[in-house]
Amino acid sequence: MIDKKITLYGRVFIEATIVAKTGLHIGGSGSDLEIGGLDKEVIRNPLTKRPYIPGSSLRGKMRSLLEKLHGLPQNRSIGKVTIHTCQTKEQFVNCPVCTVFGIPAPDAPVEWQDTPTVSRLVVRDAELTDKSAEALTNARTDLLYAELKTEVAIDRVTSAATPRTMERVPAGAEFGPTELIFSIYEAADYDRLKKVIDAMQLVEDDYLGGSGSRGYGKVKFKEIEVYARGKNYSDKKEFRSFGSVQELADAFNELKTWLQQNVPTA
Ligand SMILES: [Zn+2]
Repeated sequence: MIDKKITLYGRVFIEATIVAKTGLHIGGSGSDLEIGGLDKEVIRNPLTKRPYIPGSSLRGKMRSLLEKLHGLPQNRSIGKVTIHTCQTKEQFVNCPVCTVFGIPAPDAPVEWQDTPTVSRLVVRDAELTDKSAEALTNARTDLLYAELKTEVAIDRVTSAATPRTMERVPAGAEFGPTELIFSIYEAADYDRLKKVIDAMQLVEDDYLGGSGSRGYGKVKFKEIEVYARGKNYSDKKEFRSFGSVQELADAFNELKTWLQQNVPTA
């Protein structure tokens, strides 16, 4: 067994508030239970009862959209879903997705030991903000922090109409801030960070949660703060704030230079 040595040079933190521009439905695990005629519940924090955006939902969407953008083969089944995973080290080092999201341990042979195959990206849950919780309470929505939307599904063959009720967080609600945390293990990681920003833009142009093709789940990132921690880990180094993902993307070259100085890999 060869020891796989990985050096963490530092981390980049992207904090952002997520705004639901249209109604948002991210279902909970018990979301198919019928409660008082409600077919689809949203996921909530059991302590605060506030809806939240699970980091895993945002991260999964970022990954799948990047895989599509780069036309990567879907070659590995995990439960019911199929994802992309590189099969060789040569593919891996040039892969815009696996280098950011990592390779499951059993798939990364030991001969790759000189290349870190762990995930570089952590995405935190984003809970409904206090301000939005208060606004929704004052608005007396149908349900706690949520509205009911009845939709009619039409059977293509029989034309039978089946109404169903979806719970969703109303447009305008804000979540977070969420945190996207990107680890720097090698010099190539500076450029790989750009893929995280691309993925944020892809999510804005797509949707989060269910019923996206029917208009749900348009989100926008705002109040974006970027900072880093280097070898002297408890020193927080502030980079800058941005009003949008586009502004952040436009400043990427500056950010990269700043990281090379503040989170050096040598
Ligand atoms: Zn790959």
